[in-house]
Amino acid sequence: MFSNKENFKRSFLEKLQTMYAISLEESSDSERYMVLGSLVRDYVSKNWVKTNKHYLQDGVKQVYYFSLEFLLGRMLESYLINLDIKDMCKEALDELGIDYNNIIGQEPDPGLGNGGLGRLGACFLDSLASLNLPGHGCGIRYRYGLFEQKIVNGYQVELPDNWLKKGNVWEVKKAEKAVEVRFGGDVKIGTVNGKMTFIHENYHSVMAVPYDTPIVGYKNNTVNTLRLWSAEVAQKDFDFQAFSKGDYLKAVEYKYSMEAISQVLYPDDSYVQGRLLRLKQQYFFVSAGIQSIVRRYKKKHGSLENFADNISIHINDTHPVLAIPELMRILMDEEGLGWDDAWQVTTNTVSYTNHTTLSEALEKWPVDMFKGLLPRIYMIVEEINKRFCQEMINKYPKHSQPIDKVAIIHDGHIRMANLALVGSYSVNGVSRIHTELLKKHVLGVFYSIYPYKFNNKTNGVTHRRFLIKANPKLAELISDTIGSSWIYHPSDLIVLRNYANDKSFQEEILKIKQDNKKKLAMLIRRQNGIDVDISSIFDVHVKRLHAYKRQVLNVMHIMDLYNRLKDNPNWDITPRTFIFGAKAAPAYHLAKETIKLINSVADVINNDKTINDKIKVVFIENYNVSLAESIIPAADVSEQISTASKEASGTGNMKFMMNGALTIGTLDGANVEIKEEVGENNIVIFGLNALEVQNYYYHGGYKAMDIYNSDERVKRVIDQMVNGFLLTPQEEFKALHNHLLYHDEYFVLKDFSSYVEAQCKVDNTYKQREKWLETSIINIAHSGKFSSDRTIGEYATGIWKVSPVVID
Ligand SMILES: *Cc1c(COP(=O)(O)O)cnc(C)c1O
Repeated sequence: MFSNKENFKRSFLEKLQTMYAISLEESSDSERYMVLGSLVRDYVSKNWVKTNKHYLQDGVKQVYYFSLEFLLGRMLESYLINLDIKDMCKEALDELGIDYNNIIGQEPDPGLGNGGLGRLGACFLDSLASLNLPGHGCGIRYRYGLFEQKIVNGYQVELPDNWLKKGNVWEVKKAEKAVEVRFGGDVKIGTVNGKMTFIHENYHSVMAVPYDTPIVGYKNNTVNTLRLWSAEVAQKDFDFQAFSKGDYLKAVEYKYSMEAISQVLYPDDSYVQGRLLRLKQQYFFVSAGIQSIVRRYKKKHGSLENFADNISIHINDTHPVLAIPELMRILMDEEGLGWDDAWQVTTNTVSYTNHTTLSEALEKWPVDMFKGLLPRIYMIVEEINKRFCQEMINKYPKHSQPIDKVAIIHDGHIRMANLALVGSYSVNGVSRIHTELLKKHVLGVFYSIYPYKFNNKTNGVTHRRFLIKANPKLAELISDTIGSSWIYHPSDLIVLRNYANDKSFQEEILKIKQDNKKKLAMLIRRQNGIDVDISSIFDVHVKRLHAYKRQVLNVMHIMDLYNRLKDNPNWDITPRTFIFGAKAAPAYHLAKETIKLINSVADVINNDKTINDKIKVVFIENYNVSLAESIIPAADVSEQISTASKEASGTGNMKFMMNGALTIGTLDGANVEIKEEVGENNIVIFGLNALEVQNYYYHGGYKAMDIYNSDERVKRVIDQMVNGFLLTPQEEFKALHNHLLYHDEYFVLKDFSSYVEAQCKVDNTYKQREKWLETSIINIAHSGKFSSDRTIGEYATGIWKVSPVVID
């Protein structure tokens, strides 16, 4: 059906008829999208079956990437690109009088993730399939993804993200592969033939039903699987006791409460709230995932022998860490292994990625809550803790203090990172500086116990989505200039360095950037009703809203720029358009206040005719993957200004670099490695470094008030937040104002002057057109390192020990 245009057109019209019984003229864009989607899914299914067969028959080692989030973005065009049928489809649709972009635009963004962590999972799936690696995703099929953000009156308003409203063409429900997951109840301990038995009784059960989505590799026949679990209660599983007493409502209530498990994604990024439902979600998908892996393994191998040689389970942060006690439970209670054998298997199967140094993001669960919900799992965690602590006492008889630090259960709480460290064979950070900080500080004691478990895997992003798909003209120009080997070997982009000073290449790079800026300007015109000048610098700050990411620092610089422009209207700064996009967690008040601040500053500046449009401020609502794909290729400047030591890696930084933006940033996360790649002249670094930040934490000595009192620019800007300048009630930004002056652990005022200087440097460089374009090209040339293909290659050989399987 995709062999040529004529076949495709015929299949398209046929499918339109069978699905909707209408003619082309009568059909809507949404129906046309569904038709193209089902054709693509049908087309993919042949290789999907083939890939699965191959994996099962060859018995090759499989990787399962467990993640509570997969921020996929739209899939249709990615499939078309990876299947190498995009151009053909586009032309054929054109011949049918159908606008390709309208069709692509019909697909809802599956927002099954918050931000970087979920997007990383999605990039990894793309790279696994494209590198022919047998690796699959395991997660939750949230009925509602991350909320949709509207800006009303400058404030964030959250609306439910009903992404499944019109159905989902990509998923296949596998009802017959459903498994049961049990909550609550109690455990009866007995003995059979001298062996202890643990019988779980009086539990509530819910069925976990898998929905599979194909993950298509780039031009290689591999189709891996993303398996997302949905909680469903069948009629027969209603609470019969209540039901038989005629309490129909109670039975329905039960069904709803159990199905709530997969209803909605928690909208917290780098923060945990410790809610019972969240713990349910975590155990739900982990238990379902592991049961299905074990079932498949036994089908192939008969027994669980050599399990760890054939299966790798990776946990994306600690959210899926119950994989460790759940695997123990299945191995012992269901498969009859003893503790030591089960522990051996488990600790050789599970590997863990740490994503944060922020203490508010480290998960811990109150023992009482945990025990009530998961009584058998609690017993296993308790036993793991007991044995581990005993081992530590034997090893370090004189010191009691490290035990307090490393114990899994402490002070009435279960510390999930500690469980992950004890129960896995590998723990990695996500950039070099992050891994070093883990070893030195956050997990320092564990590093002294298990130095061999620690390793670094610097993050990456898929260049197929964030370059080939998002910026097709740039991808084409690159291939026309250096050949297309970079698509398979992104490090070949380095050849572009030879063209960094090539005038005609520079002009083509500039032209593509201007085209992308023009498109984004149209989007901004449509969505915000603001006209922006495409010859101004597009300075972009898009990511989740969080104090550590310091959107406020950016705003303070804008306010200062504006103040100086008002003082001196002839100041010849390069015109700039400051573009923001960020969702704030609904309960994170300071973050929401920051959104209002950005919009209030925008109101003042955009409506001031006296500054001749030299600055514009735009907040684009509902930042998601699709918007990232429109915004990033149009960026001149990439804002990566987190407080040093706080951003574990960042991946936005990599997407921008790949699209030729200049980074202004701190020496944090992957910025450090970006600087190392491009050289200090092709990135603008400012601010405290991680060591200086740590020193302030240990020794004190930072007083924001001193800076407020000594730097007039700072005083003026801070005062403007609360003195009516912003045309809002004076209390509007009181909390933010107080935070910056009295409770700021992120050194905003401290880094202000250094940031202003750095921004001045950006302005000057932009004025030197050739130098700017050279820098832009050098950034693209060095972005190969930050392809997730490099990252996944390192996970495959360094952690999982899996090899490619070519599907012919
Ligand atoms: C890449 C990406 C992120 C992560 O951005 P950071 O700058 O690394 O925080 C968040 N959200 C979306 C939609 C993304 O595409």
